[in-house]
Amino acid sequence: MNTMKKEKKILVVLIVLLSVFIAACSISYFTDDVYRSESQFKDYVYTYFSEADSQRIKTIGAEKDLIVYDKPLSVAMRYPKTGMTGPDEYIKSIVKAAEEEFYDAYSDADRGDKIVRFMTYDAYQTREDAVSIVLAQEDQIIHDDEVRTENKKVYTYNYYTKTGTPLDGISFFNGGYRAFFSKYLTEYFRTEHADKLLDGYEAYLTPAANNFKDFAITDAGVKFFFLPGTVMAEEEGVVSVEIGYQDLEGIVRDKVDPDAIDPELPMVALTYDDGPYPATSNRILDCLEKYGQVATFFEVGKNVNAYPEVVARKAKLGMEIGNHTYSHPNLHKISDAEIASEINNTNAALQAACGQSSTVFRPPYGNTNTVVEKAAAVPVILWSVDTLDWKSRDANSVFSVVQGIHAKGGLNGRVILMHSIYDSTAQATEMMVPWLLDNGYQLVTVSELIQYGYGESPQPAKLYGYGYFYK
Ligand code: ZN
Repeated sequence: MNTMKKEKKILVVLIVLLSVFIAACSISYFTDDVYRSESQFKDYVYTYFSEADSQRIKTIGAEKDLIVYDKPLSVAMRYPKTGMTGPDEYIKSIVKAAEEEFYDAYSDADRGDKIVRFMTYDAYQTREDAVSIVLAQEDQIIHDDEVRTENKKVYTYNYYTKTGTPLDGISFFNGGYRAFFSKYLTEYFRTEHADKLLDGYEAYLTPAANNFKDFAITDAGVKFFFLPGTVMAEEEGVVSVEIGYQDLEGIVRDKVDPDAIDPELPMVALTYDDGPYPATSNRILDCLEKYGQVATFFEVGKNVNAYPEVVARKAKLGMEIGNHTYSHPNLHKISDAEIASEINNTNAALQAACGQSSTVFRPPYGNTNTVVEKAAAVPVILWSVDTLDWKSRDANSVFSVVQGIHAKGGLNGRVILMHSIYDSTAQATEMMVPWLLDNGYQLVTVSELIQYGYGESPQPAKLYGYGYFYK
């Protein structure tokens, strides 16, 4: 046999094999999956993150990444760490909720699927007193090299730089701002996107409490966000509209006012009796502080003397502090002199604990009369929602009383009675506060409710009884 021929044959076979190998490689290269391993996933995620980073206007504090690689569900979230406790806890709670919701939403995903929930963020600080953060979420459903995007969403969060308190619309804009934005944005969508508007889009542009909550203050003006499927169709994604400062004259406040109340919006007063009691009172305060909200605490004098530091914290957080007698007696069963000392001793205890006396009074068991009201010398406050928290000792039951009244015509103008001495009530507060805010209620003190909700200056020694707090 000719060795020359044999070598040639081997060479040809080798070349053919090599070509097949190269072809196979390039096919697999061009139809390769977006990622196949944890390290490829991380490369993919960091490319995604750096794209978002490069577009971010402002860097606020540091960055935090939450990256979980798994099959079929993975999570890749990048969010800011501001260095302030309030905003950081709030942002973390958004991230955590989005993560949990993701695992729930795709709980029936196939092991062969690849689904990633991404979150990145934008940040703006154009004025000294406020920061705006916009977290943007999307889910990628990945098949080989094909990527389909679903569930686009944004979460906006504005906070006061001095205290970390969350800020709402009325903190940035002057009264009547909702009517202005309603008119402006309705006209904008009708002119610019007439052919893309969904049936019923108007509902998302009325001055109602639930609208215009998603916004950021930018260098150019105010940027509003509309979720997919509200004003425009799902496939349009999140729609944002920026209104320039030149169109906002008289609308934006010169200084942010974190305590501003919008008289045009529904409001409700949470009230807590019988404290202070450190464990439960502080848990309620933690929740109110996190959301930048207030409530009214009707304190029992002897507990004030036992736990003055809890009362001091309430005063510092801007809670309204009421008098609920010194030893919680039935005021119908004691002498006029005893009534006076029950009230006065409590005011003295409050003064010693936090440097201020009570601004409102609530008699134990609601038992009042003209002698009591005169001795109180401040507005005497009963209630219009009884949660029966002392009886049920059950957070769900307390919450469902409140939800029930909301469903039957609303809580606007109501005073809700609870007691700050039960774990179950603290737990109910944690459920109720974010829910009330989501449903468009402002949380106000009792005095603010009388002032802004009913347009009356609170009158000393007047009884605001069971019939008063209804709209
Ligand atoms: Zn009581």
